[in-house]
Amino acid sequence: MGMNAVLQPQRRIPEWQAVLTGSFTRPAQLLAYLQLPPDLPGLKLAEVRDFPLRVPLGFAGRMEKGNPEDPLFRQVWPSPREAEKSPHFATDAVGDLDKLRPGGLIHKYHGRALVIATGACAINCRYCFRRHFPYAEAKASRKHWQPLLDELAADQSIEEVILSGGDPLSLADDKLAELVMGLDGIPHLKRLRLHTRQAIVVPERINDELLDWLTDSRLQKVIVVHVNHPNELDTSVGLAMERLKRAGIPLLNQSVLLKGINDTPSVLKSLSERLFEFGILPYYLHQLDRVQGAAHYEVDEAVAKALVRDISGQLPGYLVPRLVREVAGQPSKTWIHW
Ligand code: SF4
Repeated sequence: MGMNAVLQPQRRIPEWQAVLTGSFTRPAQLLAYLQLPPDLPGLKLAEVRDFPLRVPLGFAGRMEKGNPEDPLFRQVWPSPREAEKSPHFATDAVGDLDKLRPGGLIHKYHGRALVIATGACAINCRYCFRRHFPYAEAKASRKHWQPLLDELAADQSIEEVILSGGDPLSLADDKLAELVMGLDGIPHLKRLRLHTRQAIVVPERINDELLDWLTDSRLQKVIVVHVNHPNELDTSVGLAMERLKRAGIPLLNQSVLLKGINDTPSVLKSLSERLFEFGILPYYLHQLDRVQGAAHYEVDEAVAKALVRDISGQLPGYLVPRLVREVAGQPSKTWIHW
């Protein structure tokens, strides 16, 4: 053992980061693990570097082996149709770039400002509306935090800050703690919202360190997770949600309505029921943001309305998510009345 190893104690790698490191990034390995044919259509696209395959092992473990139509697999495996150019689909589907300010701040809606805290995600979802987002230039890296905090402090109309991305929980806890401490110091801020899919796909992320800085913050917290199918919710996710609930943090879910994945009344009903078992309220059901490469996931609006009408006849009102679409330039999400 060399002297340096004695003098410099190794920094402990949190379990969730080790889990992330073990994710599937090689398409052939995921196919072998799932006992799927090695030449499954879409293979070439899964290797494309600007939006490559990325699937945590635990999430892959919730997929049915041997089934290329598995609803979780279909969220992460590219269809050959991704390569088709679709009219009315754009690289910036919701007009983020028009609203983006230096340091990763997006201020679209009154009273709320969103921070692109990082471009990293634990999973790459093929339908992602930010799949073409220029994170390298736009995210709020640490050197931008002070200007970002100054800008938030200067705008008294902002009461809520949303940490988004990418996935904000991809950042290490010491960084998040520092950023949130800065937000705590802005007197007119009242609420802190986290948008995360990582809490679902890598539930190990909900650890003591995260709960420490979250509960230390004086801001009212709300966490919005992202689950599209009931099979995403297993016991490991249940334990993570239980920890957040015990910390008194309200949990909401947003889903994207995805063709062939969750576009039946029975799946949507069981998703709402399962979310509630896990202490999560269904919040939004999004019509797909029209991002280039994702057209094959889109569900026709008339079908979407019929689906929500159907489940609202079977579930209590608090288990029926709001069907919404994001329209660039509108002062809020557009509620689609069914
Ligand atoms: S986790 Fe969210 S931001 Fe990341 S790829 Fe999936 S949908 Fe996009």
